[in-house]
Amino acid sequence: MSNDGRYIDLGTDARTAPTSRMWEAMQAVALNAVPFKGHEAVETLTLRACELTGMQSALLLPSCTMANLVAIMAHADRGDQVILEESSHIAWSEGWGMASIAGIYPKLLKGSRGAIDLSDIRAAIGRSVFSHRPHTKLLCLENTHNASGGAVLPLAYTEEVCAAMKERGISVHLDGARVFNAAVALHSPVRPLTETFDSVALNLNKGISALEGALLCGSSAFIRKASRLARTLGGDSQHKADIIAAAGLIGLNEMADVIAEDHRRARLFASAAQRIAGVAIELESVRTNIVMADVSGTGLAADEVLRRLLHRGVAAYLYNEHTLRFVFHRQISDDDAKTAARRLEEAIGHS
Ligand SMILES: *Cc1c(COP(=O)(O)O)cnc(C)c1O
Repeated sequence: MSNDGRYIDLGTDARTAPTSRMWEAMQAVALNAVPFKGHEAVETLTLRACELTGMQSALLLPSCTMANLVAIMAHADRGDQVILEESSHIAWSEGWGMASIAGIYPKLLKGSRGAIDLSDIRAAIGRSVFSHRPHTKLLCLENTHNASGGAVLPLAYTEEVCAAMKERGISVHLDGARVFNAAVALHSPVRPLTETFDSVALNLNKGISALEGALLCGSSAFIRKASRLARTLGGDSQHKADIIAAAGLIGLNEMADVIAEDHRRARLFASAAQRIAGVAIELESVRTNIVMADVSGTGLAADEVLRRLLHRGVAAYLYNEHTLRFVFHRQISDDDAKTAARRLEEAIGHS
């Protein structure tokens, strides 16, 4: 067994530690904090987020899950229908807050690599002749699309869908937890990927590597409403938010090059791992920092492969009974990527 002492955590990019520049900035803010002076670092961060996304206003929240929930609550009322891709993070991993807290009726549609066909969206909106169908207020998209292995939504697609929804008076929210990864993959600034939406949630704790937090961006009126809603959920009273914001600002300004390296390492791992007998990885679909590996061809269940991998010092995420998800982030080196593929091969060959 070759567990050379190094634990390689490919379970999620949410465990990234802040960079040393971030720690220094956080400490400087914490030591220089002036009571009752307002949140200067938060203001700087939200202004930067507006610049990046092309939105008017932004709000710092504790998590991207809360940013998505608050966005849904601000766009839609109880009993309204919200359209989501069926394997979107909001649908599979956010505890159904949209139903239990916001009273929303979720309409789940199957997409292809995160993109729902516009004709399916139109059919789901339908027309309420006798007012017996829920009123559709919102469509949510996700870029990159986590469950599709970090798939990038084509720019032409998001533009077309946003324009079509605008015509019908339906808002479109982007779960952009990893929109920075999408921008890097498309060699594009973030703004064209976000400015056609009515609101965007950005995660500061994934590839951006800040300590914590998320940003919700939208029009000034939308953010005023979101901020009131966030207060009721306990998300608008982050008393030490400046400390988080100081790290977040460095993340927004400096992490794009690091994210590009995460993508390169994901491909490095994927090209080694897809040579292992019984492991199926669509190499051409590995465009960002996530690799989905179907291990059913090995004759082993994915949870058994994961158990063996953990034993060899590699963490992955059990996506379903056939599939493991490997996520790359700044704490993973080239060596780690190669070692992880080697340990995967060992794990499959030996119990
Ligand atoms: C991680 C993630 C979230 C939630 O972020 P948290 O900060 O963990 O709440 C939302 N959407 C997507 C696509 C994610 O990957």
